[in-house]
Parts: sequence; structure tokens; C-alpha cells
Amino acid sequence: VQVGIDIGAQTIKIGVKDKNGGYKIKTGIKTEPDFIKTAHNLKREIEKSFGRASLLIIGCFGPLDLTKKKIIKAPNLPGWAGVSFSDWEKILGCPIILENDANLAIFGETKVGAGKGYKIVAGFTLGSGVGYGCVIDGKIYHGNWDVEAGHMVLDPDGPVCGCGQKGCLEAYVSAGAIKRQFGKEPIYMKDERVWDFVAKKIAQGVQIITVSVKPDVFVLCGGIAQHKGLLKRVKTHYLNMLKIYPKEAAETKIMTGKYIEQAGVIGAIELPMSS
Ligand SMILES: [Zn+2]
Repeated sequence: VQVGIDIGAQTIKIGVKDKNGGYKIKTGIKTEPDFIKTAHNLKREIEKSFGRASLLIIGCFGPLDLTKKKIIKAPNLPGWAGVSFSDWEKILGCPIILENDANLAIFGETKVGAGKGYKIVAGFTLGSGVGYGCVIDGKIYHGNWDVEAGHMVLDPDGPVCGCGQKGCLEAYVSAGAIKRQFGKEPIYMKDERVWDFVAKKIAQGVQIITVSVKPDVFVLCGGIAQHKGLLKRVKTHYLNMLKIYPKEAAETKIMTGKYIEQAGVIGAIELPMSS
């Protein structure tokens, strides 16, 4: 069986396609600080839930070296910096396709979610980090190295990001960044002025991607994207910023993802079926 896996800094989701074309997904598997221990736990969970795996498609936080199947940096999980998923292939006994987690989330949304039917789909995953993905004609756009637009610099004198740069989009709008700047976890944040600030930063990100990629749709995934009223604020700020196009061209469809938190694992499940 082909298993899709979405690795977060805290928890892991695994899933397979079921007989009816839906998905069987198991969530809440703990991401251990130890990379090898996590592989042994996953092997047990996969065999218990789905049987023996023949192929694993893994979405992981970046930056990644996709050719060497390595994690380059892991600011939120220091024990994972520099590790290679080739070691997991030995433990789990099957080949692994490694992808950037945000790429898979936007791919999932393109295949079966909010971006279905569109030629160029771009999007952010807004959670403990900020990921970016872009799917063109059904294929993930990779660049010549892992694309990491969550680390576009919005202000070179801005707050320090986990990646070492200053003023990254992630340094303003990730869950941790919101807490650092305003003192509360996003789920407890009731101050709409804070959400307006977050929306404006996200809109800045969408504007930059729009003028450089010009996607048909822009999808917002992840826990932060679920905040009620955020999408409307993002659209308003975006339209205030973008003046270069005539009205009909400026109105890139910005929408919330259909699968929000599960888009990544669904993208992983769908990936081998479309290549
Ligand atoms: Zn950064």
C-alpha cells in the first residue's frame, strides 16, 4: 500500500486512499526529537493502520535537499537538522519520495480541493511555520532548489526569523511569531487589530507572489487561515496594495483551502497517482 505522510514539528499525519476514493487518515502521531525513533514508531503505526507499505510519500518542513532526501535546517526541531530520509528507507523497508510539505498541501488543494480545475495554483500554509507551494499544469514547481517563499523578506529590519533572516513573512504571521509579537497563542487572540496586522502581512506576501507568478488562484491553508474574517481582510489589503493591473486582472481569486490541516497528507497520497 502507498502511504502519504505529513510531518509537522509536533505531530505526524499518515493516510491512504480508501476503496471508495476517499481517504483514511490517522493524525496525532508524535514527532520525536529523535529522527530514527520516529521512523520506528511510524513503521508500527503504518502496519497497524494500513498494513505493509510499498511506497512512502513524505511531506516535510524545509528547507530540504530533495535529491539527497535531506533536511537542511530544522529551527523548530534541532535534532532533525542534516538528517537523511535514506535512513528511513532502510528502517521502513520501502522507497521514499520526499517533498516539501507546503508543496504537497497546495498540490492536494489543486487535485481535490479549492484549486481544482485551475492552471496555476499558488498558496501559503500558515501554521507553526509559513510554507509556500505552486502547482502549474498539475505539476509542483520546484525551482532549482527548494522554494521557500514563507521566507520572503518583507522588512530587512524586521523581527528575527527562525531561519536567521530578518523580517520574513514567517517572522510576522506564524503561530509562534504571533505569540512573540502580541503575547498570545493565535487561538486565544481576540484582538481584531492584531488579525488585521496579520492579514496585511499575508496580503503583502500574496501581492509579491502575484506580481512575480500571477497565479489563477491563491489558496490559504493551515490553522491560521481558519481564523474567521481573516480571508476578507487579506483580500481588502491585497486590493489596496495592488495597482499595477487593470481591475479584472488584479482580482486573483484568494480563497481558504478546502482541507486546511489535511491538505498536506492528501497531497502526499495523491502525488504518485498523478505522475
Ligand atoms: Zn525566515
